[in-house]
Amino acid sequence: MDQKDEVKTKVDIVELISGYLPLKKAGRNFAGLCPFHSEKTPSFMISPERQVFKCFGCGEAGDVFTFLEKIEGWDFREALEELAKRVGVKLKSFAPTEASRTKEKLISINNLAAKFYAHLLNKHPVGQKGRDYLRSRGIKNSLWEKFDLGFAPAGWETVSQLLTKRRYSLADIAMAGLIIARGSRQGYYDRFRNRIIFPLKDGRGTILGFSARLLSDSVKEAKYINSPETPIFNKGSLLFGMDVARGAIKEKNQALLVEGEFDVISSHQAGITNAVASKGTALTERQVALLSRATENVALCFDTDLAGDAAARRGIELLDLAGVNVKVVRLSKYKDPDEFCKKDPAGFKKAIGNAQNIYNYFIESALSRYDPQTAEGQKKIGREILPILAKISDDLVRAHYIDKLAKGLDLDVNLVAQAVEKKTSEIYQEAPSSLSQNKSAIGLEEYFLALYISRDDIISPVDIPVLPVDFENKQAAHFWKWARDIIKSSRRRQSGQNFKKLLTNLPKELSGFVDTLYLVSVSPAFSEKERWVQELVKVAKRIKQKSLKRQLSAIAHQLKIAQEKNLNRELTSLTKKFDKLTENLEKMNI
Ligand code: ATP
Ligand code: MN
Repeated sequence: MDQKDEVKTKVDIVELISGYLPLKKAGRNFAGLCPFHSEKTPSFMISPERQVFKCFGCGEAGDVFTFLEKIEGWDFREALEELAKRVGVKLKSFAPTEASRTKEKLISINNLAAKFYAHLLNKHPVGQKGRDYLRSRGIKNSLWEKFDLGFAPAGWETVSQLLTKRRYSLADIAMAGLIIARGSRQGYYDRFRNRIIFPLKDGRGTILGFSARLLSDSVKEAKYINSPETPIFNKGSLLFGMDVARGAIKEKNQALLVEGEFDVISSHQAGITNAVASKGTALTERQVALLSRATENVALCFDTDLAGDAAARRGIELLDLAGVNVKVVRLSKYKDPDEFCKKDPAGFKKAIGNAQNIYNYFIESALSRYDPQTAEGQKKIGREILPILAKISDDLVRAHYIDKLAKGLDLDVNLVAQAVEKKTSEIYQEAPSSLSQNKSAIGLEEYFLALYISRDDIISPVDIPVLPVDFENKQAAHFWKWARDIIKSSRRRQSGQNFKKLLTNLPKELSGFVDTLYLVSVSPAFSEKERWVQELVKVAKRIKQKSLKRQLSAIAHQLKIAQEKNLNRELTSLTKKFDKLTENLEKMNI
């Protein structure tokens, strides 16, 4: 056994994944809402027996390593190292991959740059402008430290000189996004100049990139700039402040989501330590995953109009799909959380306590912007609110807000319910839900074989009226042939009648397929042997019927050609075959 297998046998996949999402037992498997795509009904399955997972909605599948690679964005080595650490396996040293070496290098470049920027802000004469700026915004020194703030001076080659002195190549510093190649002339210049620096970190505090703010509001330059996309940085994959706020979020079981860096920092200064920022963009799926992993409750406090903004609504929908309760904090007369915190910290805390349910907020916002007394106004309100209500995943919650909207519009509740219903079906026709994908992803043939292996005792495949040739899916046919052969030979040897034992002889090329079979849900009703056999025979018949129909249509096609070409002898034999197949098919229908 190599080290990878050693780690794998020691890790429990159910325990690992349940650290990321709630799981429910579903027969011999576990099921949950897929963390890799948005869905309302669980199609994400885990098989403890095979130590694998698969989402029947989006197709993501794999083992403990693949899971961590996908959810944390790690490479294989990082996943292996983390799991080895958890189960106490000491890895023999092995060569790091090129990609992981690059990532480590970029992180150390970022660390060094952050230390340098922080030093300039805290200690160096050149940082005076930065210090003045932060003080003018009322940010105390303890917060500079907490968020590792820094200052980039106005020079063009400050950071590049420091980092090259520390033996980093210009190409690597550019890859980290800290310097930019000059277009025509040779050389590079610093990306961040004369700005306050905010290190952007993942939840564990690793610096992946930076954002930077001008010291004055100029019209010529962007107020904020960010690191570009690098091998370790993607703006939509993190939340500013998550590393600092994580503990408080868990403790309060609530996150306060704001827009900007200063909104977060001022909130923390006011003692609101569960604040994080999406940094001015609509919430991405990655950010929603980060939030929903940390808490079930998110209070939004944005300076922009959530109700009028489709991108913001989409973010809220994603949170809802992830099972998060979303509330909205009203800013009252203040421009943003930053200002609210500074002018009236107690009031801000109160506003957070009074955060309004998101759907109430949407409905009230629409009712106040349009006139619900007029047909025109009702139409506009409906156009805005119906799609929102249609997407609420919980039936009771949806019914509650349908009632509320009906009252607001002074319309009959059944009428509104019907309109929402209609909208729901429209939406799910536009984009097929994971549910329908789910059904088609598990075909009849896979279901049959999953059922077959769902019990340990063996029913001879010979007693089941379906042959390998009847399967359309090649792997299913291959597996069925293998099962028939091995059971026949094990009968002859009078050896164990336990299908699990037989599975140890499974050829390698079928192992992925069998993993999938283990993940298919089989109703517990079929754990009773008699019902299991009945169901097997019933499904086998359907497969056989389908197979006969396929054969029939192939022969019908050949018949047509034979007729056209007047091939009489073939016509006779084909007709015979056709009749025979029809007869078989009819017999099955009885
Ligand atoms: P400040 O208080 O420093 O003026 P703000 O948070 O009030 O900032 P907004 O204009 O409301 O600034 O923008 C919200 C957030 O969006 C910012 O904090 C920043 O993270 C991001 N942002 C703003 N402008 C830009 C830009 N030009 N490029 C990239 N991100 C930006
Ligand atoms: Mn703002």
